[in-house]
Amino acid sequence: MPSDREVIGLHEPQFCGNEWDYLEECLTTGWVSSVGKFVDRFEQMLAEYTGVKRAIAVVNGTAALHIALKVIGVKTGDEVLVPTLTFVATANAVEYCGAIPHFADSEEKSLGLDPHKLEIWLNEIAELRHGECFNRQTGRRIKAVIAMHTFGHPVDLDPLLEVCRRFKLELIEDAAESIGSFYKGRHTGNWGKFATLSFNGNKTITTGGGGAILTNDEELGKEVKHLTTTAKIPHPWAYYHDRVGYNYRLPNINAALGCAQMEQLDSFLEKKRILAERYKFAFSKVQGIRFFTEPDFAQSNYWLNVLLLDDENAFIRDTLLKKLNTSGIMARPAWTLMHKLPMFHSCPRMDVSTAENIESRLINIPSGALLL
Ligand SMILES: *Cc1c(COP(=O)(O)O)cnc(C)c1O
Repeated sequence: MPSDREVIGLHEPQFCGNEWDYLEECLTTGWVSSVGKFVDRFEQMLAEYTGVKRAIAVVNGTAALHIALKVIGVKTGDEVLVPTLTFVATANAVEYCGAIPHFADSEEKSLGLDPHKLEIWLNEIAELRHGECFNRQTGRRIKAVIAMHTFGHPVDLDPLLEVCRRFKLELIEDAAESIGSFYKGRHTGNWGKFATLSFNGNKTITTGGGGAILTNDEELGKEVKHLTTTAKIPHPWAYYHDRVGYNYRLPNINAALGCAQMEQLDSFLEKKRILAERYKFAFSKVQGIRFFTEPDFAQSNYWLNVLLLDDENAFIRDTLLKKLNTSGIMARPAWTLMHKLPMFHSCPRMDVSTAENIESRLINIPSGALLL
């Protein structure tokens, strides 16, 4: 095994902007925790960049999903449609609300939810009662759909939103991987009632750990801010909380990193696109394997670059992974599909054969802006 230093990581962070200055400011002023100007500034930068009315910074992307589901009204015993091809946080957040993830298939065009297949499935199993969607097979209410923009590539949002409207389902975009990705010219996160971001260490920009909730509804934005800051009624000295809130606020010191990272986002994206172009060119000459490129309706951030083996070559995936990793090039398979994890084994699902096929052929290769 090569030593750490020789390994080309999957997505290493880059700190070459104002990170040190802003962190120093936090330390010298003592504003490291739940109060300070960087949180407000970071939220403003996020809202401006993504084009939403309100962004609320929180401790991580999983907490962001939890709150989005809660505020949308997901209750114990509800079902929430979730792609089986996703990171575990998407399904976990549904469980945190006492709800049940209901797994849906993906399409190869976007690697994300297949709106047409979802519609066919809902026609088969769902019915509307008093303006709400119910699963006839389980008797449970289906409250929402979480669309996840896989490895940064946007889901086909317009037809998906149509399906949601028809079946009275709320849409949440898990945009943890898609900051800097646009669907038909508009930033991802503008279609769902809420969208969530993550600033974990391996994401396009990082705050160490962190996340955000985006919304175009000012009232819901206020509600989210209140719930994520212990539901405290603002007052110079008194502690009064009007319900059970959450301590999900992003600390100022993390937001300081976030501001510095946002200033560099465009340059990160530019470098990541050049890297993707180079991969595309290099793999255009290799038979039996394809470099995944953005769907035609999207401009993607190419968060994690994707190789797809042809069907007949899927059997060499693990050999390839081993070869790459032992020679110091970090490479990863897709996540184990959610319906194959023990805690989600018995959750309802549609036919997910396309997700299974994609998972069997997919390899992520090094993608950080640092590589250029
Ligand atoms: C990273 C990620 C999250 C959130 O992760 P946190 O580590 O909690 O910030 C959620 N969903 C997806 C698809 C992710 O990739």
